[in-house]
Amino acid sequence: MKSIIRDEILARRISHKNAEEDSKKIAQKLVDLLRLKKAKNILLYYPHKNEVDTRFIIDRLLRSKKINLFLPKVKGKDLIPVRLKDLHSLKKGYAGIMEPEGEAVTPEEIDVVVVPAVAFDMKGHRLGYGKGYYDRFLKKTDALKVGVAYDFQIVDRLPYEPHDVPVDLIVTPTGIIKTKEDEKR
Ligand code: ADP
Ligand code: MG
Repeated sequence: MKSIIRDEILARRISHKNAEEDSKKIAQKLVDLLRLKKAKNILLYYPHKNEVDTRFIIDRLLRSKKINLFLPKVKGKDLIPVRLKDLHSLKKGYAGIMEPEGEAVTPEEIDVVVVPAVAFDMKGHRLGYGKGYYDRFLKKTDALKVGVAYDFQIVDRLPYEPHDVPVDLIVTPTGIIKTKEDEKR
């Protein structure tokens, strides 16, 4: 079931025509949200295979003196947050994804995690590439979990399992979805 939805949405993502425009809209909303939350240590991701293009966000946040930016580095089965100081220090890592080479911190030190996905549902359940890296990372941190997605990546309902960790908010080009409406945040 997960793999059928995954294939369908990945196919739509490859042919998405407004990727750059939509990524810029998401970047603006996310930068505003991070400012509102007074986030200091932020784990972002570097875009891979037509994911929402976070380079617009990275550019903006690297210039902020109040923010420490981190990108994930894959070590065995784990994601490790590694400090990013400039884009020139990136090297190809696991699955060809760009990784920084700076100082590593523990998951507890991160305030906000920006989470990529193949799809999210309205409750914040997440479908990834099927390897569980973010599930294993997210259970180790109390950080605010913020998904980013194009509108067609939001579906009504996703199948989920006990190990799946949902996100708190999802930023799309058209708005911000609060996945737990009744909770104060
Ligand atoms: P994804 O979230 O990437 O779409 P899944 O949720 O299907 O992928 O997870 C893939 C696999 O990762 C699971 O079958 C499980 O073996 C492993 N996994 C996920 N979360 C954990 C966890 N918290 N501890 C150990 N293994 C996990
Ligand atoms: Mg999962």
